[in-house]
Amino acid sequence: MRRGVRDVSASCGIYEALWLARLHQRPVGALYVHLPFCRQKCAYCDFSSWATAAGDPLIHAYVEALESQVGELREVGLLEGCRTAYVGGGTPTLAGERLVGLVRRICEAAPTIAELTCEANPDSLDDLLLGRLRGAGCTRLSIGVQSLEDGELRALGRIHTAAQATERVAAAVRAGYDVSCDLMCAIPGQTDESWRRSVAGAVSCGVGHVSVYPLQIEENTPLGLLVGDDEPAWNDPEVQARRMELARDLLSDAGFARYEVASYARSGRRCAHNWAYWTAVPYVGLGCGASSMLAREGYDALRDVAPQLPEVPVDVRRVRLCCTSSRQEIARRPALHRLSFDIELLDEGQAAAEDLMLAMRTVEGIGWGPLAHARAVLGAGRVDDALAWCAHRGLVSHTDRGWAPTDEGWLLGNELYGRLWDLAGGDVRSLSVSGRP
Ligand code: SF4
Repeated sequence: MRRGVRDVSASCGIYEALWLARLHQRPVGALYVHLPFCRQKCAYCDFSSWATAAGDPLIHAYVEALESQVGELREVGLLEGCRTAYVGGGTPTLAGERLVGLVRRICEAAPTIAELTCEANPDSLDDLLLGRLRGAGCTRLSIGVQSLEDGELRALGRIHTAAQATERVAAAVRAGYDVSCDLMCAIPGQTDESWRRSVAGAVSCGVGHVSVYPLQIEENTPLGLLVGDDEPAWNDPEVQARRMELARDLLSDAGFARYEVASYARSGRRCAHNWAYWTAVPYVGLGCGASSMLAREGYDALRDVAPQLPEVPVDVRRVRLCCTSSRQEIARRPALHRLSFDIELLDEGQAAAEDLMLAMRTVEGIGWGPLAHARAVLGAGRVDDALAWCAHRGLVSHTDRGWAPTDEGWLLGNELYGRLWDLAGGDVRSLSVSGRP
């Protein structure tokens, strides 16, 4: 018997019991709120966001709608003990004072929140807003920098300059926020040297967290249409891998530790909200396109205010929801019972396989809790065989906490995640529901 298998079997019951508490958790640990407005659409963006002016009355009505939905979640107890919130987009800072009000509302509804992040872009983050957001309860800013080279920013269709980004990031650090920068590699015009300058420039602003991503060329975006069927050399998978490795080396030399495929943090600066996504903590999302992941118990609580959601079969352990109402519909008819959703129903085995897969995004990988549970639910032999296959391919290694991804596993993530998800067996049941009239 392999070492990891013997260790976990010895105290399987304790580890599994601890993990089961999370799988049955009724209130959520994390709240996500989506503001889908940007001043201008970036050339590569296929996110749920629309270009508009800062004063658009729709932003006002939409944010007001989300504030009332936060209140509904609180009323049914879903936000009890909630630890993190994340206001993403879009460009939440485009909402200005409306964003300040939303942050205040979230803090009132969930006073246990310890980390509240707002996404921001350099062009809409002035000193006044920095001060107002901090006062309202925002603790962390995730700033979309992408590059610190003006030519590269223009090619991406970003509306800020490198100098503006550097200055605003430094101002956010000075204002006392925990600051993260997003940087993008394998983009038009980028060289290894310019990528080094962007990473070093972000670090020198004093941020505690950096996220790095290779550019994905999406169909029907201006960049996708420009590129057509070509596979541009600047976005080649080898270039992507090399730049990700360069970032890893530069950031590690600067005192940042990689804790997820794309995320690096100084000590104590990990993003607790994103960590929740990878560790089976239930979360709820508000706004168009926002996703929720609820234990069956949490889903039943949500049905108290959203009775259009159907009762689900007894074997369902986890429910994933995605709000399909448009921004106009949400603004016009904010009550949760008016909203439409796409829904996925996961049984216990599918939820366990999903947890294995998501855990492999993190540096800690699969700990004894989810491993013990997965072995009990999916069959010890099947789980052990899948992990042995991954280990044989060099994708994972055994640790004193369980199994963790190797660098190769992170580079070939789809292969690793696919093998673990195969354990789920059967299709995830899905359905769509419309809001009540
Ligand atoms: S700022 Fe972000 S969400 Fe808005 S268009 Fe650009 S990439 Fe998309």
